[in-house]
Amino acid sequence: MAKVTFKKTDLEKRVAKARKHMARFRKEPLGHFINGRLVKGKSKETFENITPVDNSRLGDIWSGTAADIDAAANAAHKAFLGGWRDLDGAKRREIMYAIADGIEARADEIAMIESMDTGQPIRFMQKAAIRGAANFRFFGDKAVEAGKGLSLPAEHHHNFTTRHPLGAVGVITPWNTPFMLSTWKIAPALASGCTVVQKPAEFSPYTAMLLCEIAYEAGLPKGVLNVVNGLGESAGKALTEHEHIKAIAFVGESSTGSHIQRQAAPTLKRLHLELGGKNPCIVFDDADMERALDAAVFMQFSLNGERCTSSTRLLVQDSIYDSFTAKVAARIRRINVGHPLDPNTEIGPLIHPTHHEKVMSYFEIAKEDGATVAVGGARKGKEGCYVKPTLFTNATNDMRIAQEEIFGPVLTAIPFKDEAEAIKIANDTEYGLTGYVWTENSAKGMRVARELEAGMIWINSENNRHLPAPFGGMKASGIGRDGGDWSFDFYMETKNTCIAYGTHSIPKLGT
Ligand code: NAD
Repeated sequence: MAKVTFKKTDLEKRVAKARKHMARFRKEPLGHFINGRLVKGKSKETFENITPVDNSRLGDIWSGTAADIDAAANAAHKAFLGGWRDLDGAKRREIMYAIADGIEARADEIAMIESMDTGQPIRFMQKAAIRGAANFRFFGDKAVEAGKGLSLPAEHHHNFTTRHPLGAVGVITPWNTPFMLSTWKIAPALASGCTVVQKPAEFSPYTAMLLCEIAYEAGLPKGVLNVVNGLGESAGKALTEHEHIKAIAFVGESSTGSHIQRQAAPTLKRLHLELGGKNPCIVFDDADMERALDAAVFMQFSLNGERCTSSTRLLVQDSIYDSFTAKVAARIRRINVGHPLDPNTEIGPLIHPTHHEKVMSYFEIAKEDGATVAVGGARKGKEGCYVKPTLFTNATNDMRIAQEEIFGPVLTAIPFKDEAEAIKIANDTEYGLTGYVWTENSAKGMRVARELEAGMIWINSENNRHLPAPFGGMKASGIGRDGGDWSFDFYMETKNTCIAYGTHSIPKLGT
């Protein structure tokens, strides 16, 4: 993107505007959205939310308890039985379109709040807000036929399948691109006829409340979408344990996914887990170097590197390792790190001081393990949660920088000899979310794609999302898929009905 003229005074105006957008959240602790209304928490406990720009306070948030979750789950359950599940799909679509319109109308506000709350650059958050609207339109279109199934004729019977919404479902979301990710879960749930209780990440609570405001202004019936703010181990846990919650759609760390499996076991909940990643980007020596370079840098350094699908392990064929990593290093040195509301910023501050510390700890770990810090490897500035975008070279796949999810603007480059070694290194990880392959030899690209243990593979492309395509990971990166019709399989029960023609003989007992 070409640089735009953006003066210090322009930034000051933007910051003032973003803070004004958030002002209404600061009047009192931010509560929960239950049964169509913003309400206070049932306990007196609150927690502070800060902006990673300078770690200053944005506001206090009510810390949701099991009692708040109970109120929200009951509201969602009532709204499900009270009409949302039976509402004609075309009517659900109409409301979802109105929500999409509302998101588009307030996209600027959403993006600004998201940027200040999370540190994600405004250039990406504007696109993420619009993608949120696209999610509502895409799944809204599918609402009309969500219940449809298959016709399965047999000799003496006719079987047919239908799909039915599960009920009230829980959505638990992380802090990286929170608004877009929330819509990715909530839109298909609503299109299916399910009602929702969301527990947003404690580091980024604001835009979930905006989505509720927009949804109710658009005509969503009371109780169909509820949000309870709070900590994972209290509000989140209570959501996973509630008897009225039939499924949990979770996005977050692999270890949290494991906790959720345990917590949800007694109530036998359906789970969709979208978890961490340590994704390989394999560059062969016959690749289109310029395109591979663009994609490798974009996939790791966009969204602050706080991206589950990032191409965090750059596997480069040894014949081009030095020249390619030199080009990557040159690009990284030119990446613009700055205030997230500045349109020229490519990397903003990391979400929170604890995460900032975690990411920076890998600079020492890399050196101790024997890798080279080719670029970056230090904090940037004195204020806020900024780091210098970083490249580690001379790395091997057994190092911690190649095995652990760092979740920051940090790239680890590892050389490989041939196709077999590239596949071996790529798969030598507990994760299996995505894989990227760069080669002009399509047969080789297909062979590697077939062998990679990951839920999503891109050949000669960065992560390019197509909403009807399945999204999800293998191994420790998750269980289940969503996107397109896969989302409906998750939020709905498939029922088979079998009708006899009266022509078959029924086995007789006791005659
Ligand atoms: P996290 O697991 O710490 O938290 C995610 C959510 O879970 C938060 O809302 C948190 O409050 C809640 N939570 C925590 N403990 C809980 C518990 N015991 N019961 C119920 N809820 C609980 O993750 P994070 O740090 O917010 O997000 C970063 C992680 O998310 C990274 O690992 C990243 O790879 C992953 N992620 C994955 C995808 C994907 O599609 N696979 C997408 C985005 C992010």
